Amino acid sequence: MRINQFIAHAGVSSRRKAEDLIKSGQVKVNGSKLTDLTYQVTGNDLVEVNGQQLRNEEYVYFMLNKPRGVISAVTDDKGRPTVVGILAGVKERIYPVGRLDWDTSGLLLLTNDGDFANYMTHPSHQIDKTYIAKVEGYATKENLRPLTLGMKIEGQKISPARYKIIRTDKSKNASIVELTIHEGHNHQVKDMFETLGLPVQKLSRIAFGNLNLDDVPAGKYRELTHKEVKELV
Ligand code: URA
Repeated sequence: MRINQFIAHAGVSSRRKAEDLIKSGQVKVNGSKLTDLTYQVTGNDLVEVNGQQLRNEEYVYFMLNKPRGVISAVTDDKGRPTVVGILAGVKERIYPVGRLDWDTSGLLLLTNDGDFANYMTHPSHQIDKTYIAKVEGYATKENLRPLTLGMKIEGQKISPARYKIIRTDKSKNASIVELTIHEGHNHQVKDMFETLGLPVQKLSRIAFGNLNLDDVPAGKYRELTHKEVKELV
């Protein structure tokens, strides 16, 4: 990995600022001041910025089938369970890619690759995310139509989404709807259904891009293959 990318990956600065750090003599590799901006860091190199040693770790990518009642964070001040806690056996410093609400279950990616995380969460990249929502009320083609036309929620434009009515139960006044959206705003799915007068009672993400949870039971995780990572970006 190129030195500026390595420094950015360690969370010290952006790639561009990393070059400034090198130019101003603040970066050492194996004890010597570095001047080569194109230096390729290898697994055995010891990199220091202002005397502080950076960790040299490979990029890793996981998908977790997040259970409800777990926070999409690395740690929690109040000691509540976090998604990174479920992957406690992973030695790299991973963090969630975007977030699922505390009470939402399903597919969540985790990585230590900042560029990948930024790419996946940037709304302009329009990566499909599919959810199954149990909503209060009777879903019909008519009352769900705004989903397919594009909506505006709290001033934010939501691009047209796709949906499928899976089941409706008039006697229980509840419906199950599959919804595919392209952005990942906070509480987006709940807000979309709320706007239609169909409050979400239960939410689960079943797919992210071309990944689904077919082989990952609730509360479990697995590493993504190289092919899966390549197909996502
Ligand atoms: N939309 C929501 O409302 N909640 C989530 O957790 C994810 C998408």
